[in-house]
Amino acid sequence: MAALGALLLSLGCSPVLPSPRADIEETHVAPPAPRWGIAIHGGAGVIDRAKLSAEREAEMRAVLTASLEAGHGILAKGGSSLDAVTAAIRILEDSPLFNAGKGAVFTHEGTNELDAALMNGHTREAGAVAGLRHVRNPIALARAVMEKSPHVMMMGEGAERFAEQEGLELVPESYFYTEERWQALQRALAAEKEKKAEPEQQGKQQSFWESPAGREYKFGTVGAVALDQAGHLAAGTSTGGMTNKRFGRVGDSPIIGAGTYADEGCAVSATGHGEYFIRYTVARDVCARAAYSGMKLGAAADRVVMDVLVKAGGEGGIIAMDVQGNVAMPFNSKGMYRGYMGADGAASVAIFRDP
Ligand code: ASP
Repeated sequence: MAALGALLLSLGCSPVLPSPRADIEETHVAPPAPRWGIAIHGGAGVIDRAKLSAEREAEMRAVLTASLEAGHGILAKGGSSLDAVTAAIRILEDSPLFNAGKGAVFTHEGTNELDAALMNGHTREAGAVAGLRHVRNPIALARAVMEKSPHVMMMGEGAERFAEQEGLELVPESYFYTEERWQALQRALAAEKEKKAEPEQQGKQQSFWESPAGREYKFGTVGAVALDQAGHLAAGTSTGGMTNKRFGRVGDSPIIGAGTYADEGCAVSATGHGEYFIRYTVARDVCARAAYSGMKLGAAADRVVMDVLVKAGGEGGIIAMDVQGNVAMPFNSKGMYRGYMGADGAASVAIFRDP
């Protein structure tokens, strides 16, 4: 089964091929489907093997494994995919190593604004929150919005007031400070200033994230998808957004159908350059292709991430699971922190194209 996990992870590593993809089904010959399981991600982007120390890599793999174990423990006892996804994401939110909860990146103004969403595929209920500045675990608030309010999405001050009413843990803004993310903002600001000063950039729409300097500072969002023993799917995503984002910017993570989506047949959590994932309604597109065209999950996920998004210039990846327990994890960036654990409890964690 560990070999199956490794195979699933490697399926996320298919090269970018020209379209039309006549070979697409062949590159995704699905292994026998596990009945239930959980997949997670800790963000995609420019993850440079040379810059990632062995110690840091080991730490990240340990947190990803702990997250998988938390979700798996719930599923193994017959718990719901919703509980598994929530528990797995909370662990990643509490780690300073990932861009969600503690460890969230900084906005242009030097603040932290957190977004999250959760969706129950079986009931199609969803909860989403955006622009949080004091909620320790945004995924818990997304869940409260879903279960305890008549709404799907709440933002900013109102969302935080609701968090207080629901007794969720609020923290001072300083809780989200990490030196590493702060330094990343300083580098981003310096690079942006330099770029603006270039004569050919003057008068042009600033697109910092497209520049080589900008590309270094993106991504790191966390997410999970799970299938429980009752055959129900769930998906969740939590993020600090993108370094140097403007005040009030909301990415794809809390947008149902863009960064997060689940229905009876398919669940997706995304990570990447959110503006593209919103415009291409990535999460829903993957599930819709699988549902309407009869494409296998891996082929549908690959088509959207490795073809549609690549042509559009949208960098990132997704984790997806279908109701048979098939998993796809394609990414078109250099790396994506990711992991999978099926019924056998063997953890498969990968970061680079070769795990
Ligand atoms: N998708 C997130 C956003 O645009 C960023 C990420 O995945 O790291 O807010």
